[in-house]
Amino acid sequence: MGCASLLCTYINPIRVTFFTYLTVYLLVFKYFLYIAAMIMVYTIYVLMVAVKKNRPTAILNLSASVLFFVTIVNDVFVTFDISRGPYLATYGFFSYILIQSLNLSRNYARKFKESESLTVDLIELNRTLDDKIDLRTKELQDTNGKLRELTYLDGLTGVNNRRFFDEKMTEEVSKSKDRIEPMTLLMMDLDEFKNYNDSYGHVMGDELIKDVATMFKDVMGDKGYVSRYGGEEFVAIIPNCGIGKGKEYANLICQRLLDAKVSHMNSSMHKFVTISIGGTSSSNHNHVKPEDWIALADKALYQSKLNGKNQVTML
Ligand code: GH3
Ligand code: MG
Ligand code: MG
Repeated sequence: MGCASLLCTYINPIRVTFFTYLTVYLLVFKYFLYIAAMIMVYTIYVLMVAVKKNRPTAILNLSASVLFFVTIVNDVFVTFDISRGPYLATYGFFSYILIQSLNLSRNYARKFKESESLTVDLIELNRTLDDKIDLRTKELQDTNGKLRELTYLDGLTGVNNRRFFDEKMTEEVSKSKDRIEPMTLLMMDLDEFKNYNDSYGHVMGDELIKDVATMFKDVMGDKGYVSRYGGEEFVAIIPNCGIGKGKEYANLICQRLLDAKVSHMNSSMHKFVTISIGGTSSSNHNHVKPEDWIALADKALYQSKLNGKNQVTML
């Protein structure tokens, strides 16, 4: 900006000199000097502010401008016979241009250096970006895995839910066929649970469902997959297990619940909570579809209920 205004100051009187009559030139020349003086003061003020703000090359710029202005003032003084000496503005202008060129080349070198360091930063950023993407992908996969697990869990008891059971059943039935290994399915239903709810309230009923679910999981451990089938009904898929071993597990569950002596004041049989279990195994039947398994286990459970509850029936 300083350079442009200086050029204007310098060139305009020349234009007036060339293109107007001498009388006009003499008349307006002194006004150019006032304008030039104002522009010089303003330019120096702006450059001083730039120096104060530590702008790059501001000091060099200020020095060049001051030098140039001094030579202009010198020329004006010489022209109006205020002082004697040679005209210096041409040299001042020359040195101003020289310093500005120096400035420009320094600026260019600095920008070049900056762009090089930016390129290095960019390469590094790209490299770390790949790492970050890998990390985020892994985190997303983990979160997805956890969400997926949650969709297979029952909200009340924390054991597997019906969706899990349906999928696992299809998987295990096919595995059992492929490996020619027996498999057992147990269906469990709390006895007189409606009465329990009526006597103790649904909150206590929920607590009981949670407790028995934990107990089922305890008894089965990693031998089988316990799921909540619905309400107070549970199922257990036990891979690599024949009817004999399956019945042992079922009896253990009945006994564990009876041993826990959970009060059930309105139970028609004992005064404790009991459970009926029905089961079926591929060691005794040639089930084809998961539905065949469920139908037979359900039938066995129904028999346990009919025969007086708190017992196991295997078909
Ligand atoms: P049975 O001995 O023949 O099995 O009789 P029951 O009363 O246990 O069987 P029924 O199927 O008639 O009743 C089951 C009851 O379980 C009915 C329902 O109010 C209750 N129930 C179902 N789901 C829940 C639940 O999530 N929480 C509670 N507290 N009760 C439930
Ligand atoms: Mg029921
Ligand atoms: Mg019941």
